[in-house]
Amino acid sequence: MTATPSRTGARVERLPLARFTTLGVGGEAEVWFVETHEQLQEAMEQPYRILGGGSNLVIADEGVPERVIRLSGPLAERDLTPDPHLSEDPWVVTGWVGGGVPLPGLIRQLQKLGLSGLEGTVGIPAQVGGAVWMNAGTRYGEMFDGLHTLEIVTPEGTRQVTPDDLNWGYRDSGIPRNHIVTRVRLKLRRAAPEEVLAKMDFADQARKGQPKMKTPGCAFKNPGGVSAGKLIDEAGLKGSRVGNALIAPEHANFIVNLGGATAADVHALLGLIRDRVPVPMELEYELWPAPVDA
Ligand SMILES: Cc1cc2nc3c(=O)[nH]c(=O)nc-3n(C[C@H](O)[C@H](O)[C@H](O)COP(=O)(O)OP(=O)(O)OC[C@H]3O[C@@H](n4cnc5c(N)ncnc54)[C@H](O)[C@@H]3O)c2cc1C
Repeated sequence: MTATPSRTGARVERLPLARFTTLGVGGEAEVWFVETHEQLQEAMEQPYRILGGGSNLVIADEGVPERVIRLSGPLAERDLTPDPHLSEDPWVVTGWVGGGVPLPGLIRQLQKLGLSGLEGTVGIPAQVGGAVWMNAGTRYGEMFDGLHTLEIVTPEGTRQVTPDDLNWGYRDSGIPRNHIVTRVRLKLRRAAPEEVLAKMDFADQARKGQPKMKTPGCAFKNPGGVSAGKLIDEAGLKGSRVGNALIAPEHANFIVNLGGATAADVHALLGLIRDRVPVPMELEYELWPAPVDA
């Protein structure tokens, strides 16, 4: 199908979702590239999903029947100019940063500008909206360390909230599923760029053992503080392969796509891990569509 504009001018195209995910897996869906709030409201008139950087997703080979919304154009742009009314030394409150902005580039830009607060999230291949929705982070910092205001859109309308309005916590923003984080304003502290860079380098050290291939990140949460990777390794599963999906030899909690893997291959490996690891472990990935018993 070629791209057709919607009633309000959104580009709508039937596309393989694999190209939007870090795993490189996923069948087709109707993708809505929305650039304005008006287009977003139209996209939300039918069942929809919001897709960010696709860095936490395993999407079925059949794709999904719902509309898949991608924030584009102005909703993927950033204005990092300090707001003179809200900024008070050493704190800087920026203009709006679109939910569709890739997080890694933003973190590099903030470092160069000498703005500190989000550098602990270095290396997370998300979009700003997805990272905020999950409160993505590492032991060195998380998204809610640097938020001033969030704009959230639902089929009922648009509202602006502050972190204090939300029941956020560990890897959780408290924002319900399919409430779309369209834009945020950041609250950051002025610092020397070298100081921010040093923190980023330190946080990045923890990723040295992670595989460099296509992956949706860690497969399982650590059960009760025990390393999921260690448990999978101890079950003798490192290097196990189904089709073109592999349990990474570098780190057993990562499943990688060797090229041409299917969602079925990944699900088979997840099933193998569940069968062989004696401790129940909760999945870190989000599955599209969700399994019936989820
Ligand atoms: C190599 C690698 C390393 C990683 N390291 C980390 C890490 O250190 N820490 C960490 O926390 N995570 C990590 N992750 C996982 C992943 O990056 C995070 O979970 C991230 O928050 C997902 O964001 P995304 O934009 O890619 O969202 P997606 O994967 O596209 O979607 C995930 C969920 O967010 C929702 N969503 C997406 N955009 C929006 C939006 N604008 N508004 C509302 N909901 C939205 C989706 O509907 C979906 O429910 C890693 C992943 C990879 C591949």
